[in-house]
Amino acid sequence: MTAISYAVRAEHIHKSFGSNEVLRGISFTAEQGKVLSIIGASGSGKSTLLRCVNHLVVPDEGLVHIGAETLRSHKQRDGKAVSSDTRQLERVRARLGMVFQNFNLWSHRNVLQNLLEGPLHVQHRPKAEATEHALSLLAKVGLSDKKDAYPSELSGGQQQRVAIARALAMNPDVLLFDEPTSALDPEMVGEVLRVIRQLAEEGRSMILVTHEMRFAQDVSDHTLFMHNGQIEEEGPPDQLFKQPKSQRLRQFLQPTY
Ligand code: ADP
Ligand code: MG
Repeated sequence: MTAISYAVRAEHIHKSFGSNEVLRGISFTAEQGKVLSIIGASGSGKSTLLRCVNHLVVPDEGLVHIGAETLRSHKQRDGKAVSSDTRQLERVRARLGMVFQNFNLWSHRNVLQNLLEGPLHVQHRPKAEATEHALSLLAKVGLSDKKDAYPSELSGGQQQRVAIARALAMNPDVLLFDEPTSALDPEMVGEVLRVIRQLAEEGRSMILVTHEMRFAQDVSDHTLFMHNGQIEEEGPPDQLFKQPKSQRLRQFLQPTY
């Protein structure tokens, strides 16, 4: 068996919502232990592409390889795209941790309960082990003292750090971030980016959709620039941000370029 060097590989992904073709044949590779960042204007298809990785949005066409598994989809008679193997999807999803723009914590559960939900009820891990792991993750994101707090009692930055710890509690192989700081007040962006940077330095495989250009340039190994549902340009971040080739990327970077 040949060793697999990628964490995620997407091939020729297409997705339309009605007559709106949002993804027009996208292929990319996210290497193991590396950070792939995705940038682009609002509406360019970044969130849709990230959601296609775990079939939260089911592609109309194309394949998603996660390690040795390949997620496939097909169209039903009514034209709706569905995942071809739902048991495989369940298995694969457990290996992908996702962090959303709006935290998506369970509001009626406290912080520790938010972290234990998946490990106990999805992974059926022993409570003592899961609790110890959860507490160590809260320490890692600097929130040990908030384990009994409810989400509404936390700032946005704290909620997002809980959401990251919750994703980590499942021991995922890959972390998917969709603009994790865009719903935060400016003074809270730094505390969340610090946690993400630490995860990158630990060598976690990540796909990061972000509008934090400086951070993307700093933390990623490879960057995709999306425009109108296609990859307009990609490469090492230093090249993309400092010597953009396409006119559209130059325009997009204008304010900081
Ligand atoms: P980005 O994350 O880059 O801002 P999105 O992937 O959210 O872009 O959206 C790309 C396009 O797809 C937009 O035109 C958006 O309105 C459309 N879109 C996204 N999700 C849906 C959906 N569930 N139903 C219909 N249209 C959608
Ligand atoms: Mg988006």
